[in-house]
Amino acid sequence: MRLSKHDLFQMDDEWLKKLPAELLLEVSKRLLHDVKELQDRLNQNPGNSSRPPSTKAPWEKAPDPAVGNGASTKSGGGEAAAETAEGSAPAQEPTPPVSERPSPRKGSGKPPGKQLGSQGHGRTQKLAVTDHCAHRPDYCAACGATLTEDAESQAYTAWDEIDIAPPVEGHIGLMFSVTRHTLLEVRCACGHVSRAMPWRAPPDAQWEKVELGEWRLVGPRLAGVIVLLALRMRLSRASIRELLREVFELTLSTGVIDETIREAGRASFPLEDALVADIVQAAQLHVDETSWSESGVLLWLWALVSTSTVLYLIGPRTREMLDNALQDGYTGILISDGYVVYRAWKNRLRCWPHLMRKLRGLAESSDGRVSGLGQEMEGLLKTLMAAIYAARIDPPPIALPERYAAEVKRLRHLCEVHQMDEHPALRSVVREFLHDWKVILRPLAEPLLPLSNNAAEQALRHWVISRYISHGTRSEEGSRAFALLASVIETCRRRGASAWQYLGTVIAAARKGLALPALPAIPAAA
Ligand SMILES: [Zn+2]
Repeated sequence: MRLSKHDLFQMDDEWLKKLPAELLLEVSKRLLHDVKELQDRLNQNPGNSSRPPSTKAPWEKAPDPAVGNGASTKSGGGEAAAETAEGSAPAQEPTPPVSERPSPRKGSGKPPGKQLGSQGHGRTQKLAVTDHCAHRPDYCAACGATLTEDAESQAYTAWDEIDIAPPVEGHIGLMFSVTRHTLLEVRCACGHVSRAMPWRAPPDAQWEKVELGEWRLVGPRLAGVIVLLALRMRLSRASIRELLREVFELTLSTGVIDETIREAGRASFPLEDALVADIVQAAQLHVDETSWSESGVLLWLWALVSTSTVLYLIGPRTREMLDNALQDGYTGILISDGYVVYRAWKNRLRCWPHLMRKLRGLAESSDGRVSGLGQEMEGLLKTLMAAIYAARIDPPPIALPERYAAEVKRLRHLCEVHQMDEHPALRSVVREFLHDWKVILRPLAEPLLPLSNNAAEQALRHWVISRYISHGTRSEEGSRAFALLASVIETCRRRGASAWQYLGTVIAAARKGLALPALPAIPAAA
């Protein structure tokens, strides 16, 4: 929309009559643009757009007696801003009448933690303003004329942004800044008064409850630190609040902290394509998954790990999940455990320590026969493993499959004669070996290939602890934000870059609708 309610309010017959012909054309173009956009919006419904059914217009669904007019179902987004001294960001209508204002408590999208306003506090903390930033409209919203720098202007609203100042070389520690952003209105020669508007991301069905825009209390670099504290340091929202208050004398509500993290997730969303592109190009990819809870529903946290990139995904434990992530286009080597979804990939390796643990289980069986077999198989695999490690340092004159043909043959024989064994654990292990035989023994011929899936297991370990602390995520949007931010943080770490500083630049760009900075470069040594 080109014209805000504030703009339209000033336009009437009298004003139009006074406009010269060429300006009338400009005004008409703007009006036409907005009318067409409104027309398309009127025709939009969940059947012909990405709008989820919950965004149906009030007349499209059964009336809800609890909600006077269904028009104010949108909520949640403005909650952080509602805590700022000046109230929520001006949308198309900067100051809606009180009765029209959507209640921030309505709807199901309550952020976790203490609900906003539960202590009856707004932002009571008085902060000394350190910087000023004035936002002027560049063009007249009505006629399109350029508004010159010296044209008379006046402030119509403002918001404060708390951020961490860029580091000063040679100094340690953090310096906070409080910037007062003043929005100005300017009168054009045509008589129209235009207002500078803070940038705001258009509605996105995937991020219904997460707002993204310029009008924010928490600045981008401080937001980067909050994300780091939450994910990398695994601090709860309440602990982050306590830390900021104790160490920096900065009071933020847990609601603002939670919203900051989810907004950072939405801001990082366009990076997912770049992460996937890097993953798909990797020569070797370690994959593993662990259970994850999303508001009590059992899902899986997947880790796809290359030498310089990590991609986390939260979703079902299905083949489709992996297909979608790898877009069927992955031609490198996949290293995994024996989980069935991985078996579709021919170019694959198995994690030997994983198999070794299973053989150890057999070796420790109280059934003497099974224990003996387990020990023998474990011994054979250990011999092969030692040979592979030795071959990496000192390539042998005879290829390992030839040199260890007798051991391989014996292992194969043990597997074959016991594939119908009455002992379920033994039967299951030997069948697993037979099923994946070529995949398991491939490193014998190519000893430089990895033998373990440690990289993926390691990449999950940190988040397994998070899961115990936080009990998972609470919504689809929360899961998406978590997986994205975890991916960005781990990828930055692998590339030797500062995750919070990079996230700060990402959030700063996303809040203005600009292209995001590229992922940190892959160091030459990696
Ligand atoms: Zn004008």
